[in-house]
Amino acid sequence: MLTYDILIVGSGGAGLYAALESRLQEKLQVAVLTKVYPTRSHTGAAQGGVNAALGNYDPTDSWEQHWFDTVKGSDYLADQDAAEMMCREAPTVVREMEHWGAPFYRTDEGKIAQRPFGGASKPRACYAADKVGHIMLHTLYEQGLRHGVDYFNEWFALNLVHDGQRCIGINAFSIRTGRIYTIQAKAVILATGGHGRTYWTRTSNAYGNTGDGSAIAYRAGLPLKDMEFIQFHPTGLRRSGILVTEGARGEGGYLLNGEGERFMQRYAPDKMELGPRDLVSRAIETEVREGRGGPDDEVFLDITHLGPERIQERLPQIRQLCIEFEGMDPFEEPIPIKPTAHYSMGGVHTDINGLTSIDGVYAAGESGCVSVHGANRLGGNSLLDILVFGRRAGQHAMQYASSVEFAEVPDSALTEAETCIKELMEGDGKETVASIRQDLGRVMADKAGIYRDGKGLAEAVNDIEELQHRYKRLAVKDRNTVFNTDMLAALELRNMLALAELIALGALQRTESRGAHSREDYPERDDQNWLKHTMATLGADGRPNISYESVAITKFKPEARTY
Ligand SMILES: Cc1cc2nc3c(=O)[nH]c(=O)nc-3n(C[C@H](O)[C@H](O)[C@H](O)COP(=O)(O)OP(=O)(O)OC[C@H]3O[C@@H](n4cnc5c(N)ncnc54)[C@H](O)[C@@H]3O)c2cc1C
Repeated sequence: MLTYDILIVGSGGAGLYAALESRLQEKLQVAVLTKVYPTRSHTGAAQGGVNAALGNYDPTDSWEQHWFDTVKGSDYLADQDAAEMMCREAPTVVREMEHWGAPFYRTDEGKIAQRPFGGASKPRACYAADKVGHIMLHTLYEQGLRHGVDYFNEWFALNLVHDGQRCIGINAFSIRTGRIYTIQAKAVILATGGHGRTYWTRTSNAYGNTGDGSAIAYRAGLPLKDMEFIQFHPTGLRRSGILVTEGARGEGGYLLNGEGERFMQRYAPDKMELGPRDLVSRAIETEVREGRGGPDDEVFLDITHLGPERIQERLPQIRQLCIEFEGMDPFEEPIPIKPTAHYSMGGVHTDINGLTSIDGVYAAGESGCVSVHGANRLGGNSLLDILVFGRRAGQHAMQYASSVEFAEVPDSALTEAETCIKELMEGDGKETVASIRQDLGRVMADKAGIYRDGKGLAEAVNDIEELQHRYKRLAVKDRNTVFNTDMLAALELRNMLALAELIALGALQRTESRGAHSREDYPERDDQNWLKHTMATLGADGRPNISYESVAITKFKPEARTY
């Protein structure tokens, strides 16, 4: 049997940092299991920056200000103790990344360069061109190899093995052979990233961001928190939804509507284009609805005035993406953009060490929810979250794994995984993954998008239930075991359908507007009734149970959120 002290599922920044951290101090056996090659994880697509109040650009910046910006950005739903910890630890983790070799851009004095980002009162996003995730991911992977982390590349995690109290391990299969294994582990860290792909038809997310770890935790009986909060990034390329970083606005880019007007003055007169993402996305949607969009219901991001040299130095990837995916050159004309589903604020409910209610089971990164982002994440705070909480989960798991023995693996350990695969492979219905996935994407975009209302959300809940029924009539056409991507896509779809239901249901029940959750029938924030986290747990009847938990408010009293 395969046995590790600590098994980490996911090789994005959160997983790799957790692995490295738990390997550094103690000689425990640590492995990372991932469905893609590690450096292809979505963290590598992060463009704009990672926040830390280093004060290299503005010496008056402080972690306290970063903390306040984060809490305000979250529309007061973030747990303030957790947000405090993240902002306090930010300079340490960013410098640690630097010492491991991450080549951040520099100021003239040789310090780490920082650029302005949305919703932040000071320029504090540390960057390297528009490829900051790429440099972080490669640095972490290299250091993991150097420090003896094992990697299971192109393996797919199916479920947790546990006895309700303690972690026993996981079931996973090798995509190359199709063979299913139980991997015994004292501690498992789920670091499987977000679930933006539930908005299949328009998202900035990688194809793999299907929320597998969150769905695994949910099926294991663990609560998922604040799932209704999905961030729409204001600037996705018009046709593909591929991201154009907030860094483009940080560098001085501005937004124009179809009439050539800088419309943000109507919505955020102080912050303008650098308002927080929920606000800017709504502003774009409103312009388009009121007939001031472009011919294709888009608006425009103008960076031409920055000039070719600066664009090439600071935003080279953006230019490349525009040429390849939009057929236009941002040296010469404004970039056509529309908002795109981007980030999952919700995820597996954990404490500040990433621990869940099962001993030895952790979640970190975008699949976890501590919560530091509340109802709306600030740009640059997610890369920070994965570093701070990936590291903490790694440290805590290391201490835990050093102090306990392995739990015995029961004979029935493989049953759940084998049944799931068997049912899929034997299905002989007429439905295909592609059609259900496409319909799911449409339902989510149309009925659980930037603006929502009770009628649409109730329909979305029913539609998703119907899609879940259709899923039971799915045919996986490829019956092979080797590299069966048809089966893989079916497994991912199962996870997305489970999470989509929680997004729509949480949104339907939350009768207020807060952060990224904007109800047209309840346009105001309602602290009296809704200053609380939504918790979704799988009931014995296979249906979700929704309950609520209080928000930790330590310093900042909720106040009106203006920019
Ligand atoms: C285009 C884009 C740009 C961004 N830019 C920024 C930015 O500039 N600043 C910022 O702060 N944030 C940014 N973000 C957000 C940030 O990049 C992500 O939230 C963060 O990188 C997530 O990291 P992670 O480690 O949690 O997961 P990911 O990097 O998404 O990795 C998930 C891992 O889980 C593995 N996995 C998933 N399911 C399974 C399974 N069933 N079995 C095995 N392995 C599995 C995958 O193989 C992968 O290795 C951006 C996001 C996007 C999409």
